[in-house]
Amino acid sequence: MELATDPGHPDRPNEDYASLALPASGQGGSLVLLDGVTPPADAYGCLHSVHWYTAQLGGALGELSVSRRDLTLPDVLAQAIGRTADAHRDTCDLSHPRTPQATVVLARWDADRVEYLVLSDSALLVEGSDGEVTPVLDDRLDTLPPRVRHLGDAARSLPDGSPERTDAVGAYRVAVEALRNAEDGFFTAAADPSVAARAVTGALPRAEVAALAALTDGAGRWVEMFDEGSWADCFALLRKEGPRSLIERVRALETERAESGPAFRWKRHDDAAVVFAEF
Ligand SMILES: [Zn+2]
Repeated sequence: MELATDPGHPDRPNEDYASLALPASGQGGSLVLLDGVTPPADAYGCLHSVHWYTAQLGGALGELSVSRRDLTLPDVLAQAIGRTADAHRDTCDLSHPRTPQATVVLARWDADRVEYLVLSDSALLVEGSDGEVTPVLDDRLDTLPPRVRHLGDAARSLPDGSPERTDAVGAYRVAVEALRNAEDGFFTAAADPSVAARAVTGALPRAEVAALAALTDGAGRWVEMFDEGSWADCFALLRKEGPRSLIERVRALETERAESGPAFRWKRHDDAAVVFAEF
């Protein structure tokens, strides 16, 4: 088992979070991967940082996933969100739409089965005992209502660097933000435990799973932004070279593309984290 993470910018705290737990029973374990959502620069109703939030939530997920095997993974997530909300309910406005929040990948295994949960746009890759790689994705962010997607298409059709494009991108972002943790929109772990029921979940017999990999979108860029290969190719690279190598390849691609071509969709470098677990 290996994990690696790298901040998108050396002067800013890394808002990704990754952990592995291998409890002493020796029969199983869990992995946690979070991608904290960076809020806009203005105040967001909370005294705390995004990395405070991911440390609280990630710590609770790691603990509850192995100490409370009687709970389902959505119940583990709901309790972890509740515990984190309780830690700042008295000082902060948890109803603010940009209260600290994160994407979640959570997987837990024992001798019999592997359970998983994915919420928002971090990816879980499952390698079967037959070698086939299946991505588990929550694709709600890619399937926004047509009126919002049209705003995005319109923005992309305008000349790079033009004021019109800047305005259109702004309008698109406002429309996307309105769908955050809203019906017909997309969901992240924030302060409301009920969001856990929205996660993509499943379970497989342990004998049918050879390995798992979890990636935040900063590392998933290798597939999703740079088209260097499929998720199966990405998995093969992780198996051969490990998480650190994948992140280094993404950083090299970011630098190369930034110097040679059009501006990036969001930002030049993003926090990146990868967990790889082979059974
Ligand atoms: Zn707070």
